[in-house]
Amino acid sequence: MVKHFAWRLYSDSLPSCTNLRKMGITVNDVCFLCGGKEAISIHSFQQCPYVVEVNNLLRCPIPTNIFVDSKDLLEFFHVNMDWRDFNCWLIGMWVTWHQRNLTLNGEVIRQPGEVPETL
Ligand SMILES: [Zn+2]
Repeated sequence: MVKHFAWRLYSDSLPSCTNLRKMGITVNDVCFLCGGKEAISIHSFQQCPYVVEVNNLLRCPIPTNIFVDSKDLLEFFHVNMDWRDFNCWLIGMWVTWHQRNLTLNGEVIRQPGEVPETL
């Protein structure tokens, strides 16, 4: 499942609000995790305060570089992190994406501080 997530992250094909809009599907542009505006798909993996907090707790701070999409972000982490840290970051993103999707069903999600405990 994590490999499938990584492939979809790399191909920028996760069903983010941005990508759904690109396909002509009308969706709200509010981030499910923080309630902020999800103007671009990279929000879910770099700019969202929820994701930033999870990454900081995983000791994988997200750089302030400007990434054009999730593929660009994934390549940055792959090149600049050792294999263990890269996997930790990727699994953290996968768990965070799962939390985001739980909100779609109205389920209670973990607080960012609880996410590292699930790894
Ligand atoms: Zn957000």
